[in-house]
Amino acid sequence: MEKIQIPLVDQYDRHLNYLRISITDRCNLQCMYCMPQEGLPKLKHEEILTYEEILRLARIAIKLGVRKIRLTGGDPFMRKGVFDFLPRLIALSGLEDVSLTTNGICLRENLEKLRSFGIKRLNVSLDTLQREKYKNITGYDGFEAVWEGIELAVKLGFHPVKVNVVVIKGLNDNEIFDFARLSFRYPFHVRFIEYMAVGVTDSDMPLHHIPSSQIKEQLEGLGELIPIPKSAYGGPAERFKFRDAPGEIGIISPVTNHFCHMCNRLRLTASGGLRPCLLFDREEDLRGPLRNGASDSDLAAIFLKAASKKPHEHDSVSEQTTPFSGQMSSIGG
Ligand code: SAM
Ligand code: SF4
Repeated sequence: MEKIQIPLVDQYDRHLNYLRISITDRCNLQCMYCMPQEGLPKLKHEEILTYEEILRLARIAIKLGVRKIRLTGGDPFMRKGVFDFLPRLIALSGLEDVSLTTNGICLRENLEKLRSFGIKRLNVSLDTLQREKYKNITGYDGFEAVWEGIELAVKLGFHPVKVNVVVIKGLNDNEIFDFARLSFRYPFHVRFIEYMAVGVTDSDMPLHHIPSSQIKEQLEGLGELIPIPKSAYGGPAERFKFRDAPGEIGIISPVTNHFCHMCNRLRLTASGGLRPCLLFDREEDLRGPLRNGASDSDLAAIFLKAASKKPHEHDSVSEQTTPFSGQMSSIGG
């Protein structure tokens, strides 16, 4: 591989050392805040980056200073061959952290495999603790499977297991306490995320976020929230714990208190777009150059270009008028 030395630092001096890779737009759920009921057009097989292409791009990104990679989707377990791909990704020299975000439906039966590859950290999305509501939100009766996967992950020593809860007004905000209480029983990190009005949802059912300040106020009703300092890969969450609780609470506020000033992410979409900001409709195409004989230096230059285009901050997404036109499932959230 050619030598590449310029690190990925944007014009606001943010070091972009975290790459999120959506390996597929396919998903086995249809969460109401992410996909419309009629589904979304699927990328064609040839539109999706091959594993070889992803590995090549990951190697280049690492040369440019990326140290952490998270696989997402769609659901990463929905892509054939993921268990051959993962160990190859993990083995890339210079990478310090590989993790995975999943809806958890296929987690239980794959945990041993993930553990054998050396994966330690998992993010699992779960927006309700009620079976019927789960079915209503996701279109699938899968609560038990996800819950069993989460419990088993903890038993098998995965840490942290982060449980991501997208909080939506009138839908699951009445479960904030129930989720927070889990941190007294389990070493989970329960993370409340403000719903972003950006997915392709059904217009006859508008969804609304709850500001993180209100989430926090509610949580304070359960006990004193003791702040936890940020860790190396702690991400954008404001972290807390309740006294004597083994678990943690995180609050992520992309809408009311966005964390753009400390954003260290780039996103590689399933179709090979390099996206400097989730909520900014701009991508640099990597797939075309990759398939047209670009050298590693050419591809590195595209990474640097994307970094240079990273906006200082995104527009508010509190209104339904955001210019975002991507698909969460191919960008990876
Ligand atoms: N399928 C996997 C999952 O659900 O964890 C990975 C892909 S999903 C797009 C990644 C994350 O984006 C999930 O935690 C999901 O809850 C979150 N997400 C999707 N749409 C969202 C929205 N409109 N607002 C906030 N978070 C959203
Ligand atoms: Fe739900 Fe994730 Fe699938 Fe979107 S990609 S429908 S958030 S499980």
